[in-house]
Amino acid sequence: MKIGVVGCAGRMGQMLSRYVLDTDGCELVGGSEKTDAAIGKDIGDIIQREHLGVKVSSTEELFEKADAVIDFTTPKATVSNAVLAAKAGTSLIIGTTGFSKEQQEVIENASKKAVIVQAPNMSIGVNLLFTLVEKIARTLDDSYDIEILEMHHRNKVDAPSGTALGLGKAAAKGRGVELDDVAEKVRNGIIGARAKGEIGFATLRGGDVVGEHSVIFASNGERIEISHKASSREIFVKGALKAALWTRKKHFGLYSMQDVLELS
Ligand code: NAP
Repeated sequence: MKIGVVGCAGRMGQMLSRYVLDTDGCELVGGSEKTDAAIGKDIGDIIQREHLGVKVSSTEELFEKADAVIDFTTPKATVSNAVLAAKAGTSLIIGTTGFSKEQQEVIENASKKAVIVQAPNMSIGVNLLFTLVEKIARTLDDSYDIEILEMHHRNKVDAPSGTALGLGKAAAKGRGVELDDVAEKVRNGIIGARAKGEIGFATLRGGDVVGEHSVIFASNGERIEISHKASSREIFVKGALKAALWTRKKHFGLYSMQDVLELS
């Protein structure tokens, strides 16, 4: 399968490029960067490997030559990549997080003409957590307060993390409510007692933490806590490539990692 990596010089982009090269049945056909100044650079030089003869191209060209493009960049870049995917009919794997409602609508629209897999977290462990959280929330009534705590490295730009919001959505689904109606993302000052049914978020940032998430169900007399701790970005890379391979022979549409892992 011919795979392209947008943002190939990024933290995730570099790891992805190396992993595609090392995976049987996959061919790294190119990458793109934010500025045109990078066009023509050998990707081997970017990822500290030998000269590969595989060059950075424009993103348009990448979508023309790849069967699937993997995208861990920024919401703005990913939205225009979704339009390119629809134009070229190329599969798109979206790992980028932090989309606005309007940006998400563009992705949904693009998925009418391309296979798109979008997941705020590509790891198997976190996707299992989504399933378990939904199940626990369905089992417990709203005498259990749901709080979601996450910590990431100091350079992360969006908060709460896409994974924390995904966990919130899973909990809300289990409860039969919409996350937007019950989410409390920021608490500061004299805010009064916690509202019944609220799903709260708390965000920590620091150091080089790859990603830690806990969902807490707290009631009078007991507390259930379920956590996932990532110590290497490799888990996201593996998941993204699994998703890319999975898109072969799939019909146009917007899919999740739950679909890829058959957890839905
Ligand atoms: P990063 O190191 O900043 O990498 C992003 C790369 O994208 C940078 O090289 C950036 O270039 C490039 N880029 C920006 N705009 C572009 C454009 N228009 N065309 C091509 N490349 C462009 O960030 P990261 O840590 O890899 O994370 C990237 C995203 O993935 C974030 O949203 C993060 O939350 C998400 N993420 C998701 C998962 C998951 O499992 N779903 C896991 C980890 C991270 P410049 O540096 O020149 O701006």
